Amino acid sequence: MVRRRVRRSSILHRLPALAVCVACLAARADPPPAPAPGLAAAVAPYAGVARRLIEAARQEPSAWTRLAELTDTFGHRLSGSESLEAALRWAAGEMKKDGLDNVRLEPVTVPRWVRGRESAALVAPVRHELAMLGLGNSVGTPPEGIEAELVIVRDFDELQRLGPAGVKGRIVLFDVPFTTYGETVVYRSTGASRAARLGAIAMLLRSVGPIGLRTPHTGALRYADDAPKIPAASIAVEDAQRLRRLRERGLTLRVRLRMQARFEADALSANLVGEIVGREAPHEIVLVGGHLDSWDVGTGAMDDGGGCVMTWQALRLVRRLGLRPRRTLRVVLFTNEENGLRGALAYRDRHAAELSDHVAALESDSGAFPPLGFGFSGVDAARTVIRDAARLLEPIGATRIGESGGGADVSPLAAAASVPTLSLDVDGARYFIYHHTQADTIERLSAEDLASGSAAVAVMAYVLADLPQRLPRRSAP
Ligand SMILES: [Zn+2]
Repeated sequence: MVRRRVRRSSILHRLPALAVCVACLAARADPPPAPAPGLAAAVAPYAGVARRLIEAARQEPSAWTRLAELTDTFGHRLSGSESLEAALRWAAGEMKKDGLDNVRLEPVTVPRWVRGRESAALVAPVRHELAMLGLGNSVGTPPEGIEAELVIVRDFDELQRLGPAGVKGRIVLFDVPFTTYGETVVYRSTGASRAARLGAIAMLLRSVGPIGLRTPHTGALRYADDAPKIPAASIAVEDAQRLRRLRERGLTLRVRLRMQARFEADALSANLVGEIVGREAPHEIVLVGGHLDSWDVGTGAMDDGGGCVMTWQALRLVRRLGLRPRRTLRVVLFTNEENGLRGALAYRDRHAAELSDHVAALESDSGAFPPLGFGFSGVDAARTVIRDAARLLEPIGATRIGESGGGADVSPLAAAASVPTLSLDVDGARYFIYHHTQADTIERLSAEDLASGSAAVAVMAYVLADLPQRLPRRSAP
């Protein structure tokens, strides 16, 4: 995902306070399309609805409140954990209370990776406990741990230059400075197998993120079939830099790693689905959603509790205003995005027969920060519609349309049936400081930003679900 460093405070909370209750908003008739100068003819009739959804989002504090309840009550929600299943049951009950239609849990079998106890320490020439987190899907060490000389490399090229002679029997640390997530994360996902091919017995990784407060970042690794599976963990940026400085003074470093990480038997989980059934074409679907599972650190408030709550809130706002679009609005809270994607694949398979009627799929999984607009992947004719619809979001500044959009959970729909996909794009300047760390808690997020994001999703999804014409798409592959 492309991340841009754009600073913008939320405009929504600076709008003048309007002493209007949500029920009053619902009762008010849409103004005629005329007072929307400059809007494309197709979206002009939605100017009034968009304004009412934005006002309702601002007055309805429940997105932040609901996210706080989710994260305080259930904590983190790793696949296979009881907390994820309890959170799913709670969210299903709340969706029913919201008056959404057809609320159901669609079963998905998910992997159960368990971290267990873990530690890493520099043991020579000085003792120093490293701030570490095992990487998701990693194997563990023997109970007594692994102790070996540490080899530090900047990138894969340096690793290859060392070759087996420099790596065999040692622990490799990838000390790779963070540039973008896309560029740097490849060391997390493939570094262990690359080091293992040269004979390394464990892998450490400088956390994938900018410098934080000595916070290690977890995340998934992927073992290659042709390499031994070695234990892998990330360490705080500060610890990686200290190890490098010690090494550059000519010292030989020894590190001990202990990890109980393991897979247990697969567990039963679910995708949670709720709808507002369309009034004219109920079989045509505009999907919005995020993933309810998280890593087992922090409380998954940002990744991706916020995305779940905002997309869910979008339907709630539509319902609160008494609106029923032409097509069906469907919110899906996916399971197992972080370490398996089995929720997304199960959704694709279960709904295979109706994918050609998925008009668009919008995922929010970039943090609940001030919305800037949407990423979009689809044909040019559809992009024009999306761009026009986003202009309705000028009051909250979410009008930008990025070159590509979607997300891990909706990408299988695009691949299988050319479903046009969108992502809610936000000011991501702070996202990777907290991503997959103990610091991913609700304190990172504001009620104003959650309200703005909910409004942005509500307006875009409602317009796509209600336009007389379906969003254009290329024919299925
Ligand atoms: Zn996520």
